[in-house]
Amino acid sequence: MGEDNHGFTTKKCPECLTNLPLNAEKCTACGKKIGEVEKTGFAKKPINWLSYIVSVLAWVALCLYIWWAFL
Ligand SMILES: [Zn+2]
Repeated sequence: MGEDNHGFTTKKCPECLTNLPLNAEKCTACGKKIGEVEKTGFAKKPINWLSYIVSVLAWVALCLYIWWAFL
């Protein structure tokens, strides 16, 4: 498989500490999206790319507006 499970058979939800199967992509208790197990035994928190991109675009739009309004 090539996946590194760090010897764990379950992973913990980083939000509510529920034990979940290693292949779970979503916590059954709190419904948060979760990633692979880390060496701490907790599941990774996936990066929210959509909100990241939206905030970058908002900054770009602001800069363009300032440039357009004052130059
Ligand atoms: Zn949870």
